[in-house]
Amino acid sequence: MKKDIFEQMVEHLEELQTESGTVYIPAATANEFFADIKPAPAPVKTPAKFPAPAAKPASPGSFPAPSFNSPLAQMNLDELNAETQKCRKCPLCKTRTTVVFGEGNPDADLMFIGEGPGYDEDQQGRPFVGKAGELLTRMINAMQFTRQEVYIGNIVKCRPPQNRNPLPEEADACLPYLKRQIELIKPKVIVILGAVPLKFLLNKNGIMRLRGKWDSYNGIKVMPTFHPAYLLRNPNAKREVWEDLQEVMKIFGKVHKK
Ligand code: URA
Repeated sequence: MKKDIFEQMVEHLEELQTESGTVYIPAATANEFFADIKPAPAPVKTPAKFPAPAAKPASPGSFPAPSFNSPLAQMNLDELNAETQKCRKCPLCKTRTTVVFGEGNPDADLMFIGEGPGYDEDQQGRPFVGKAGELLTRMINAMQFTRQEVYIGNIVKCRPPQNRNPLPEEADACLPYLKRQIELIKPKVIVILGAVPLKFLLNKNGIMRLRGKWDSYNGIKVMPTFHPAYLLRNPNAKREVWEDLQEVMKIFGKVHKK
């Protein structure tokens, strides 16, 4: 039967994708992420953000990865998870319901790092399952990944009371677990969600200034952007986040076609 013009176009696009190895994301998927924001202002020329800067040596104040002698350095992901489940290294263990280890593909090329569990996460033992988590899932899908393909972790694995930011001593106690997770997963890119992981993973302040600028952690490209909870309060900031996420998409050969 003769194909109509639309079917022919779809076929042609699929052929192009196969030939070039480039994946186009359907506009509808991305629109689900930023549908509620106002029309874009006139485009402003911004300096190119790509390629990422060369890896810098770890900043002096940052927490070291577990040393070779540390028992964590010998553990696989399951052993590490089991270790965190019995952790009592900081006072958050007294108020937690569950330890939220993190979840996703243990071989993920893309990893997202948030602050710490909130109420829903503490109840369910899974990261980003509340309102902010729903938005994170939409961000991931807009990038044409699924939650199952990526890995999602947090700076602290136990909920800080009243969802306050983790204290430096809590982050200090918990970071060796996350650092071992990163070491095992070996993502190509880490997306840092907000000021808290920026401070504790990269030892930097200023998410407003540093979002959208490539950084690095132990040779892994890092893209800081706003936390989805911030986007729930400031939907217009989705525009900046979408720019940041598209920089990450470029690394994976993914292009958003309007
Ligand atoms: N906010 C975070 O930073 N992490 C979660 O897991 C949930 C909400």
